[in-house]
Amino acid sequence: MPGLLRVPFHRDEMLTSYISRTACANGRPDLHAFCHDLGLDLSGIMRGVAASISKLEKTLGSDPGELADRALIKTDTRNIRLGDMMFAAGSITPTARKYCPACLEADRQDRSRLAGTRTYARLQWSLSCIDACERHDVRLVPVQADVDSDWAFERISDLSSHTVVGHASLSVTTEDTIPAKSDIANPLKATAFEHFVAMRLLGERTHGPLLDAMALPAAIEAAHLFGLAKTVGKVFDWQNADIATLKKAATEGFHILSEGELGVQEALAGLAKSYSGNGSSGRAIYGTLFEIIARRPKRYDPLSEIIKRLISSAANGPRRHDPRRSMVSLQEISEKVAMTPRSVGRYLIQHGHLTTLPHNVADLEVSHHVAMTAVKALKDVASPEDIREVLGCSTAELRSMARSGLLNAVIGPIPDDARSGADRYSLLEMRSLRKELIALAKSRKPCHASLRDASTSSGKAAGDILLLLKARHFSNVSFDRTKSVFDGLRFDPVA
Ligand SMILES: [Zn+2]
Repeated sequence: MPGLLRVPFHRDEMLTSYISRTACANGRPDLHAFCHDLGLDLSGIMRGVAASISKLEKTLGSDPGELADRALIKTDTRNIRLGDMMFAAGSITPTARKYCPACLEADRQDRSRLAGTRTYARLQWSLSCIDACERHDVRLVPVQADVDSDWAFERISDLSSHTVVGHASLSVTTEDTIPAKSDIANPLKATAFEHFVAMRLLGERTHGPLLDAMALPAAIEAAHLFGLAKTVGKVFDWQNADIATLKKAATEGFHILSEGELGVQEALAGLAKSYSGNGSSGRAIYGTLFEIIARRPKRYDPLSEIIKRLISSAANGPRRHDPRRSMVSLQEISEKVAMTPRSVGRYLIQHGHLTTLPHNVADLEVSHHVAMTAVKALKDVASPEDIREVLGCSTAELRSMARSGLLNAVIGPIPDDARSGADRYSLLEMRSLRKELIALAKSRKPCHASLRDASTSSGKAAGDILLLLKARHFSNVSFDRTKSVFDGLRFDPVA
C-alpha cells in the first residue's frame, strides 16, 4: 500500500513482532485498530490463516511467503509449524515467553532504527530448549504478564495470544520503560547447542553434513535423545526428564551429531555395550533412543538411515561370535516355517521350552538353540495336503493313528487352550510309517478288504487296525501302488 511506512524485517524476528512494530511505525500502536483500518484480519494472521497472511504481505508490499515463513502456525493440537519446520507443540510457543534483556537493551541503543520500533522478539525466544542468549551469554528472562505488563517487548511478544488479540488495547508503550541491562542481566554461557539452534533459525547450515541435512526440529529432538542415552543410559523417560538433565543432554547430543555418522556410530556402540542378548531388535540393543526414532523414521532422516545401517551389524555381530547368546522371537520362527506364532508357541510348550503363551505370542523370545530345533521340527510338519498325499487318510484317521501310538503329534493340543488349532505331525515319521506298512505287503493275491474297509466293518479305529497289521495279525497283505495307503493296502481281515 502506498504511503505505508515499513520497518526492516529482521532475519531472526517473529512475524508477530514485525507487524506490531510496523503498526507503531505508522503511528497506530494499537495493532487491532491498525489492522482494522487496512482491512486486515488480525485474528487470522495470528492463527496462521494463509489467506490472511497473504493479504498482509500484499498490503505491506512484502514478497509472497516472506511473512508466512516467519509465522508460528498451530497446525493441530500436537504440532506447530514455522516455515517448513514442524515442531512438537511443547517445544515451541506461538509467542515468545522469554527474552534477553541485553538484546532488548542493544535494540534500544540502536539509533539507526525508527524510534518506537527498535525492540523486537527473536525466534529462538519461543523455543523451550533455549535458556541463554548466544549473543550475550545472558540467561533469558521469562515474560511475566503481570509484572512486566508495561514492557514494549511483552506487548510485542504476546500479540499472537488469542486472549490478548481479543483485547482492544494493544498499545505499545515507550521503550524507555524497559529496565536497563545492568539491572537484570544474569550471566549464563550459551551452549554449543544453543548457538547451533540460533544459527539454524537464521538459515545457516554449518554444523556438519548430518545436522545440516536434518530438519531443525528433528535435530533438536535427536540431540536430546542421543544426549540422554549417553548420560542416562539405554532406558530413559524423555518427557519427564528434569530441565538440568535435558540441558546437559542437548549439548552432549549436539556434539555427537555434529560429528556425523562416526559420532552416531560411536554413541550407538556405547549403548550396544550393555546389550545382554535379550532379543536382536534395535530396540533391545539401543533402547529408548531407537524406539523413538524408529517410530517416525522419515522425520529423523538421514539419521534414521544411518541407525538402520548400524543395526544390522550390531544385531548380527553378537550372533556371529556366540550363536547361543542371541534370542529369536516366535515371530521370526513363524516366518521361517510358514506357521502362526501361536502354533509355534504350542510346539514350544509341548516340548517343554515354554510353560504358557502370553497374549503377544509373536514378541516372545527363545534361545537361538531352541529356535533352531523348533525350525527344524516345524519345517517337517505335515499339512492336510501332505497327509492325503503320503497316507491317503483323513484328519480323524490321523488322530486315531496318533492315539494308537503310531505317530507322535509334533504340535498337539495344549490343556486349557480353547484356541488350539489342528494338530500337526511329522512328515518324516509319516513317510517312514508308509514305507514300513508297504513292506508288509508280500502277497500278490487280490485280497478282500482295504485298510479303510477293515476299520469301517470291524468298528475298530484305523490306528488300532494298523497296530494289528504291524503285528502281522492279518494274512495275505497286498498293496496296490496306484492307490493311497488307506485304500491300496489290502488283507484278509480274519483275525
Ligand atoms: Zn541477547
